[in-house]
Amino acid sequence: MWERMSYYGMRALLVIFMTMSLQEEGLGFSKDNAYAIYGLYTGAVYFMGLSGGWLADRLFGGQNAVWYGGIIIMLGHIVLAIPSQNTFFIGLILVVLGTGLLKPNISAMVGQLYTDKDARRDSGYTIYYMGINIGSVIGNLVCGWLATNQGYHWAFGAAAIGMAVGLIQFKITQYKLGTIATGPTVQLSSQGVRNSWVAIIAFLLILVAVTAMMSTGALVIDVVSVAKYVAYIFTAIFVLYYASIFFFGNLDADEKKRMISLLLICIASACFWAGFEQAGSSLNVFAHENTDRLLGSFEIPTAWFQSLNAVFIITLSPFFAALWINLGKRMLDPSYGVKCAIGILIMASGFIVMFFAAQAAASGLAVAPYWLVATYFLHTVGELCLSPVALSAVSKLSPKRFAGQMMGLFVLTYSIGNVIAGVLAGSFGGEESGDVSELFMFITTFAVSIGIIVLALSFFTGKWEKAGLNKEQA
Ligand code: GLN
Repeated sequence: MWERMSYYGMRALLVIFMTMSLQEEGLGFSKDNAYAIYGLYTGAVYFMGLSGGWLADRLFGGQNAVWYGGIIIMLGHIVLAIPSQNTFFIGLILVVLGTGLLKPNISAMVGQLYTDKDARRDSGYTIYYMGINIGSVIGNLVCGWLATNQGYHWAFGAAAIGMAVGLIQFKITQYKLGTIATGPTVQLSSQGVRNSWVAIIAFLLILVAVTAMMSTGALVIDVVSVAKYVAYIFTAIFVLYYASIFFFGNLDADEKKRMISLLLICIASACFWAGFEQAGSSLNVFAHENTDRLLGSFEIPTAWFQSLNAVFIITLSPFFAALWINLGKRMLDPSYGVKCAIGILIMASGFIVMFFAAQAAASGLAVAPYWLVATYFLHTVGELCLSPVALSAVSKLSPKRFAGQMMGLFVLTYSIGNVIAGVLAGSFGGEESGDVSELFMFITTFAVSIGIIVLALSFFTGKWEKAGLNKEQA
């Protein structure tokens, strides 16, 4: 909760801070550059989960990765709080590195609290997911208020304090985790450990050199064109990494079957976020330009629509947690694949609502806010069917010794989904609502097709989800 408070609190301010003029204490970047940096930054945060998971499995263990990752994130926010433009990128890089260590490993550890037969796993993840969203609400409120009333550096400072509270809480309650993820699960030879450290140090040195060259102007990177290729690069890395674990990870036949069913969940996750993440772009613009936000004499701020998702998550999570437990007890629990397919189809239904809203707005009149409220409600229900469930699937279906890096790979699907969402919004990027309704129709068709394919395939992969698990427990 505290890590997400710091992440979402800061994320909400980033683009505005970058585009504000120097006189207003912003960075004075152009909008194009700010969007590209934002996209690369959020992509990088989730991309680094891959190495974070790898390092935890081989060198540190999950608990240490979470602890040191948290410290690095806190340092990042402290650097961002320094009112100096030169240190901005250093702060962002620290947050990226720290989150890479923390995010996949903390998510993997939630699952390790449950045995493979425990029907509470999906519900446990739903509660964890509630924590994520409570953090996001606190972050948006506190950092948003500070940014407008005290200044941006105060808001970044608040994120650092949130992270510090999280670290203290983690240390105080760490004993409850017992022996979970205390050390590496994949044994490296001493030569392997040495090589890994050489690689880490080399990577950090290159990072320092590139950052220094960029800040002195010796190296100029066209962020806008880099951002365009990132979706392809991330997808290629995902495929290669998944294939290398599948073919060279010494997996037995049952582990291979589970990995195939997990691949379906990962594809479903990337496609889901590609639609869902319109929240920050096209849906946000629709709230701003096409929605009648006047309630009497009060104008609802556009940003409030963004918090609907988190508010719905917090209120609906307990019902979903109870639902999965009850279905599990009655042996009616649908397979992971089926739940994900349902999540995608419900997300698609939200875009059907938006399609009609955009048609109504095409006349030029602003439409009622209920359209967006209904869409965010449907998107949240879809998210609760898919997102915590997919985390649970990763923790259950992955070969145990690769728990951290499989979660890292899964977190990469967030990245791919987010980047595709940006590309989709951009390619229908006209100002008129006619274009927006085309975008919404396109996403509906895309999501319904993917939902049906995932549903159909899940009838095959559903039984593989259980492959070998009873045996391991016996
Ligand atoms: N809200 C979720 C989290 O922060 C998922 C984020 C995402 O972009 N997929 O963990």
